[in-house]
Amino acid sequence: MQNLLHNLNPEQLAAVTLPAQPALILAGAGSGKTRVLTTRIAWLVQTGQVSPTGILAVTFTNKAAKEMLSRLSAMLPINTRGMWIGTFHGLCNRLLRAHYRDAGLPQTFQILDSADQLSMIKRLLKALNVDDEKYPPRNLMYFINGAKDQGLRAKDVEAHDEYNRRFVELYDAYDNQCQREGVVDFAELLLRSYELLSRNQPLREHYQSRFRHILVDEFQDTNNLQYNWLKLMAGEHNAVFAVGDDDQSIYAFRGANVGNMVAFEREFRVQNLIKLEQNYRSHGHILDTANTLIANNSKRLGKNLRTDAGHGEPVRIYEASSDIQEAQWIIEEAKSLINEGALRSEVAILYRSNAQSRVIEHALFTAGIPYRVYGGQRFFERAEIKHAIAYLQLMDNPHNDSAFLRVVNFPTRGIGARSIEQLQDASRQYGISLYAAVPYVAGKAGSSLGSFVKLVEAMRFETQNLPLQEMVKVMLDMSGLIPHYQTEKEGADRIENLEQLVSAAMLFVSEEGFGIDSPAFLGPKAQATAGTPLPNGDEVIDADAPLPTVMSPLSAFLSHASLEAGDNQAQAGQDALQLMTVHSAKGLEFDAVFITGLEEGLFPHENSAKEEGGMEEERRLMYVAITRAKKRLYMSFSQTRMLHGQTRYNMKSRFFDELPEGALKWLSPKLQHHWFGNKKSAWDDAPESGVNTIAQSFVRKDVGWRIGETVAHQKFGEGVIVNIEGSGTNSRAHINFGRHGMKLLDLNIAKLERV
Ligand code: ATP
Ligand code: MG
Repeated sequence: MQNLLHNLNPEQLAAVTLPAQPALILAGAGSGKTRVLTTRIAWLVQTGQVSPTGILAVTFTNKAAKEMLSRLSAMLPINTRGMWIGTFHGLCNRLLRAHYRDAGLPQTFQILDSADQLSMIKRLLKALNVDDEKYPPRNLMYFINGAKDQGLRAKDVEAHDEYNRRFVELYDAYDNQCQREGVVDFAELLLRSYELLSRNQPLREHYQSRFRHILVDEFQDTNNLQYNWLKLMAGEHNAVFAVGDDDQSIYAFRGANVGNMVAFEREFRVQNLIKLEQNYRSHGHILDTANTLIANNSKRLGKNLRTDAGHGEPVRIYEASSDIQEAQWIIEEAKSLINEGALRSEVAILYRSNAQSRVIEHALFTAGIPYRVYGGQRFFERAEIKHAIAYLQLMDNPHNDSAFLRVVNFPTRGIGARSIEQLQDASRQYGISLYAAVPYVAGKAGSSLGSFVKLVEAMRFETQNLPLQEMVKVMLDMSGLIPHYQTEKEGADRIENLEQLVSAAMLFVSEEGFGIDSPAFLGPKAQATAGTPLPNGDEVIDADAPLPTVMSPLSAFLSHASLEAGDNQAQAGQDALQLMTVHSAKGLEFDAVFITGLEEGLFPHENSAKEEGGMEEERRLMYVAITRAKKRLYMSFSQTRMLHGQTRYNMKSRFFDELPEGALKWLSPKLQHHWFGNKKSAWDDAPESGVNTIAQSFVRKDVGWRIGETVAHQKFGEGVIVNIEGSGTNSRAHINFGRHGMKLLDLNIAKLERV
């Protein structure tokens, strides 16, 4: 036991060994919150206070859950497989699989990812003849998810006007459609399992007596529904151990409520509030930078962070002339880091928006540096993989209409739009799935649809009792996907990806343990004996027995594809640079970190100005970004950037004004040195089409000003000249004053100064 505890400071030790009571650990980044939480689990198990199956631990990402499990295996001689450690979504999925009947779901219910959800909403609006300009599908999706995150069904939502009433009706219609198809969206996973537990007393009591210890990481980002779900699981007696940092709350846009920390302290009557103030992650200058920045926020619970690590290196700041040049600089720096011995996987490149990654990826690709993108176009989101997954989904649950529509005529089988319309009419008329409606379609349409149904049935039959990866192979053979892509010009990549799906299935089986002797593999009969029946006939698992997996390997794999779509499995393990958004970097740490695109409108994001508290949220996001770095931190911004097909002229982010000058080192000369004089023009580095033509119109010496020049105005502060119109006494300039917006000023009247 000494071993477990000897690496902790006194506050951490106190937190790890608290009695079984509600506790809140409130502490800044890198202070060891996650480490404390993991160590506490190990300590509870090792001292015999709880069995591994009596623990429920919620992490923020699947990656974090995996890491926690592997750390636990290293600390304890136990089998961590089957422990309830995961994300809210992952755990709810598990709960619903175990009690699908009580939850009112088919055994093979499938999970809609957000793209599937949106396309389903579009289909629904079309079927109901709803004007999608008046009721944009995306807004309806936000509306539905927002309501679900608050725990509200359509009947619970109060609509104050006609427009909103329509949204509520559509929400209801959407839920019915999901139910018919046997699919659930992400928010539904949570709401459904919340409803299940609140309705079903025996089940609730079962889980409450099972999970004596509930531990939650990143508590500041729980939404109201998640908070209430935890309350249900905790009941009156269980010990909830929550760790979090209000300064890192960055999911308000998804309904996260940092107020839950305050509510938790009050409602759970928390006696044990522990603050950790020693930071073990970052060197001094990095930490100073983070602390000084976040001090600009007003709504904080208040805590400090210090380090013994010494100042370390200053934070390096670079001003690029274009996004392309910024990417080039990143690559040069990354190369020299690697030459100095850094591991590629210890170097992270962070950005505010996914769209920024393209230029960086291109530069890395050209330079031949291996990299890995989190949350970009994911493996399971590629078109060919989605098609293959749709076939697998139909084999598992043929009533999934989204899957049906995706592949009924892919590869083409002569089933046209007209046939589909007939089928949709029949399905609406009888209130059944498309698959079930096929016999009601007559004529030629009916017979081609019938052949498709036969194909799916044959696939199901042929793959009975086959291991998962064999199922995938048979599906690839029978579906005709491979021959289809063979005839496509750029099909080779797609075929390769499809082949990778077989490897992904294989890896999944070996990681998740769907071995020959696992209960899941033995089929429903063996599974049934693993549980003790509840009064209502649903089976529940003995609290101390390991949880049998009630999912078939195929269902489990499909859930995994929807929930963990994160990574391209085949690349896992390769030493590669890490590219991701700041949001997805939460909880992680790297030796060296680049924070890129620090420009007004991008970071802080322009949308943040529209929302109350938006700027403080952006600042917290920046705080998260800075505190990912252990030893070296770079920040960069660029004068121009191509984004969404437009060239933007940018002001540097206001966050630079909020950093401690003494901790920083500016690498590049200030703007004007770059652009004129004997030095190479910044535009020499900008080969991207469009940019050069703009560059040519740049010099307007006739009016005394240049496009791209930074100027200062008495009222609006600093701005960048974006365009100049007219000439002589008639010249006017469009100037981007960052937070004051774009202004058109008469150059002969406005009192502008060069900066
Ligand atoms: P974040 O807020 O970013 O999630 P955190 O508070 O969860 O951070 P951890 O990730 O648990 O912090 O810890 C940060 C780093 O400090 C890790 O590398 C961890 O191993 C190390 N660390 C934590 N506590 C100690 C300690 N007592 N001695 C040495 N290293 C420690
Ligand atoms: Mg953490």
